[in-house]
Amino acid sequence: MSLRRPPKEPPAAALHVGPAADHAAGLPAILSSLRHGLREMGLRRTVQTLRMVNQDQGFDCMGCAWPDPARRHHAEFCENGAKAVAEEATLLRAGPELFAQWSVAELAEQSDFWLGKRGRLTEPLYLAPGATHYAPVSWDDAFGVISGALHGLASPDEAAFYTSGRTSNEAAFVYQAFVRALGTNNLPDCSNMCHESSGVALEQSIGIGKGSVSLEDIEMADLILVAGQNPGTNHPRMLSALEAAKDRGAKVIAINPLREAGLSRFDNPQKVRGMLGRGVEIADLHVPVRVGGDLALFAAVNARLLAADALDHDFVREHCDGLDAVRAAAAALDPDAVRAATGLDDHVVDELTALVMASERTVICWAMGLTQHRHSVATIREVVNLLLLRGMIGRPGAGLCPVRGHSNVQGDRTMGIFEKPRPEFLDRLEPVLGYPLPREHGLDVVGTIEALRDGRVKVFLGMGGNFLSAAPDTAVTAAALGRAELTVHVATKLNRSHVTPGRAALLLPTLGRTERDVQAGGEQRVTVEDSMSAVHASRGRLEPASRHLRSEVAIVCALAERTLGARTGNVEWAALAEDYDRIRELVAAGIDGFEDFNARIEHGFVLPHPPRDSRSFATPNGRAQLIPNPLEVLDVPPGHLLLQTLRSHDQYNTTIYGLNDRYRGIKAGRRVVLVHPEDLRELGLPPGTTVDLLGRPDRDGTVRRADRFRAVAYDTPRGCAAAYYPETNALVPLHSVALESGTPTSKSVVIRLARSG
Ligand code: SF4
Repeated sequence: MSLRRPPKEPPAAALHVGPAADHAAGLPAILSSLRHGLREMGLRRTVQTLRMVNQDQGFDCMGCAWPDPARRHHAEFCENGAKAVAEEATLLRAGPELFAQWSVAELAEQSDFWLGKRGRLTEPLYLAPGATHYAPVSWDDAFGVISGALHGLASPDEAAFYTSGRTSNEAAFVYQAFVRALGTNNLPDCSNMCHESSGVALEQSIGIGKGSVSLEDIEMADLILVAGQNPGTNHPRMLSALEAAKDRGAKVIAINPLREAGLSRFDNPQKVRGMLGRGVEIADLHVPVRVGGDLALFAAVNARLLAADALDHDFVREHCDGLDAVRAAAAALDPDAVRAATGLDDHVVDELTALVMASERTVICWAMGLTQHRHSVATIREVVNLLLLRGMIGRPGAGLCPVRGHSNVQGDRTMGIFEKPRPEFLDRLEPVLGYPLPREHGLDVVGTIEALRDGRVKVFLGMGGNFLSAAPDTAVTAAALGRAELTVHVATKLNRSHVTPGRAALLLPTLGRTERDVQAGGEQRVTVEDSMSAVHASRGRLEPASRHLRSEVAIVCALAERTLGARTGNVEWAALAEDYDRIRELVAAGIDGFEDFNARIEHGFVLPHPPRDSRSFATPNGRAQLIPNPLEVLDVPPGHLLLQTLRSHDQYNTTIYGLNDRYRGIKAGRRVVLVHPEDLRELGLPPGTTVDLLGRPDRDGTVRRADRFRAVAYDTPRGCAAAYYPETNALVPLHSVALESGTPTSKSVVIRLARSG
């Protein structure tokens, strides 16, 4: 029993607001990494784990999906990577005694921070129908409960199987094989809520839903646009790549409503100048576009490129369709609508365009700031249009860089975790697995919540993640989960989804990425795929937090065997769990790009990307598509604001590492809303006022709300606001999704502020 104690949560009154930072990392990042490590793991374990993260024979960071450089530093991690490791390798334990002491209802009253700080789950737990407390259960009984529930369904489509991006390739592959053997494509994943809009737009434009650059391209580029992304917090090692590019004379443009510390100056703690606080200025230009104004911005830049005839005509002629259509759309672009949508003066767009025209090697990086709006697919098509017009696809030092937020979210999709699988993917895999694969498309995240709400889905299984806190419309999603006959979560630590159970619930504790995974066939490795399509191995090195833990692969294979029998088609479930090489052999036989998978994971490899590799495009006619996009200006009624939900610096997705946001001057609290001082003045709300955030009345009159936030005067465009999720996910209506991709519009929520009662 660990003597370590979870951190105390400060009272709401302890919240302190100070000036935002103008630089990222440096000595404070080292101290913060150490503080988290010492608090969770102690000195020896902190040193032991941080020496192994992102190292050749070590484990892959379970944070974001930023790639590892070919030559790694001894300390190949960032502050938030160190926090992610400390969270998983913590010595705190959430054992049966915790669940005996606290009822599910009492646990649900605690904050996300408090729940996450209980420590690692140690044993399988079952909440029987009508029970108030989780209680220990054997693995065998747990699998019995699940297979019984699955067999009790009228159709396999009455079950949904969610995947978080932390799941390894091997676990993702057997998971989709099991789910499809059951007969459904209900495979929602966290990508539905993050880069789905990128995947849809890229598939349409270039025939593959992945970015086209490598780390070397970033470092070779002479112009890097960073749009709707905050790398200082969400992909911190990216700052090292930007620093390297800057050192070689590249220009960096930050396109973001907020002036983020990481895009202002980077004090690289691995460099003397960084430790002396004289790091590198990152952004040469900050473009403070209005929330949701990126579509108009990129359309305006493209219109200027066309007007100036600043195109790579050879590339466009040889590889692209649609030039006339985008020319017509550009000619029809309304400058007033562009100004209204972007909130920018023309000279700012002119300056940005001039930099684009002067560039020979342009990379565009983006994240949620572009993907979580109603018109996000159109926005990303305009981003692709820009690079196609300039011939920047398949050129060294240039290309597309959607930066993934979860360490293996791209890999999971490659392994088949997708509710809308391509027919050719299933055609290739079916003979390898040896059983028919369902063809009818399944449910994405929003579809799953609607089906749970309407009683069409009765069994929910979550492979990692925190479905409830990541999802929109928190109250609706919580009620929907509560309607399920059975909810099952495979997890390492306690979170809000686990204390929002169905009529019965199971909590199945799994190995973390830091932990040794020993099966009958010996010690196992898993693989992940980063944002740049590089696949590499990860080996856990720590002893598991408990002897009851099982790997995700072992859990899925045991459940499949219990539900379907020892063998399904060509698949012997137990054999796959014994030795993951066998899983990789199936992958090599059934998925493009994984030939000789087991031989190649030793040194890692990069998956094929036809546009990058050979300027070939797997579109219906084999040519890249220049696609015109209608302009959309988000309607915000007077007295209302456009809210973007975002992370603090002490947060990774829905995991709350701490209650500070050092870069934005926030300490000891999270219920803050950042608003332009002039907007606060016009609303008659002095900074520091406690306010409630109210959504626009819904069709049925429902008004979503999030209460008791401190109004903070902050440098953001007029009419825009920002606040942290998951607290503000309650304001995002379930039906408010991006066109074509179905991604919740978490980055543009119309709200108004009201003084709290
Ligand atoms: S940049 Fe991302 S992957 Fe790298 S150490 Fe930091 S959190 Fe982990």
